[in-house]
Amino acid sequence: MKIVKTPIQLRALLEQEPYKQGKIGFVPTMGALHQGHISLIEESQKMSDFTVCSIFVNPTQFNDPEDLKKYPRPIEQDIKMLETAHCDVLYLPSESDIYPEKIQIKETFYVDGLDTVLEGASRPGHFSGVMQVVKILLEHVQPDLLFLGQKDYQQFLILSKMVQLLHLKTEVVRCNIYREKSGLAMSSRNIRLSADARMKAGLIYATLKYAASLLPLFNIFEIKQLCFHLLNAPQNFHADYFEILDAKTLKEISDSTTEYIIITSVIVEGVRLIDNILIKMNG
Ligand code: AMP
Repeated sequence: MKIVKTPIQLRALLEQEPYKQGKIGFVPTMGALHQGHISLIEESQKMSDFTVCSIFVNPTQFNDPEDLKKYPRPIEQDIKMLETAHCDVLYLPSESDIYPEKIQIKETFYVDGLDTVLEGASRPGHFSGVMQVVKILLEHVQPDLLFLGQKDYQQFLILSKMVQLLHLKTEVVRCNIYREKSGLAMSSRNIRLSADARMKAGLIYATLKYAASLLPLFNIFEIKQLCFHLLNAPQNFHADYFEILDAKTLKEISDSTTEYIIITSVIVEGVRLIDNILIKMNG
């Protein structure tokens, strides 16, 4: 695996043979890699000729400075995991490579309100930071394919919209959620949970599936209330939201809805955990 640290080195590499003739798949991450990230690398390997993974902990998307400080950065372990997965290129830029001037949000995109609900409502500015950094990374990598996880479903929708607004040639690919045995969606933040909470957090996925099973039987308002209550019940669990929305617009279900998203954010022992499931209508 080639490791490159600056945008200039990266462009020099990708404009050489054999990379320049091939299809480039890109997996942006913030490191502290787990099997969920590796599943994106594997998806990229199936669909592209070369896979570039980036690791950059982006300060502009953290609205809580404590969360940024506590974000795990086990870079040696990450490199080993990427080598084992046969990733082709690791892009490891520094803050000054991404933000040569000031580290601040400069530009944002109008994404039809996708960025102001759910995570956007609880973490003001978060998605502006995400759009900013991914736009810069896309300029550096210039990939044919961009692989994003469904775990961050709202992020996937927003970035797909941004790619469309920028008229980029990049195709956005949504990848399935990789889970721990308990059903908890894998996340770099899970290591901050106690062993007990980590096991109990399987309740989040169980509740999403329960909500899906109730959809034909009860009205959405009742299901949301019940599930929100269930996720608030255990000690040290605090449900931020539990929503059932139109999967394309993140607005209320309407006659034109073809797919639902059941989506939640639960704070467990102070750690924010998000998860969702998609449900096709009549399917
Ligand atoms: P992060 O490092 O948390 O910014 O995540 C980098 C990418 O990995 C994003 O596209 C995430 O949606 C994706 N990802 C994170 N966790 C998982 C998971 N459990 N399964 C699949 N993809 C994931």
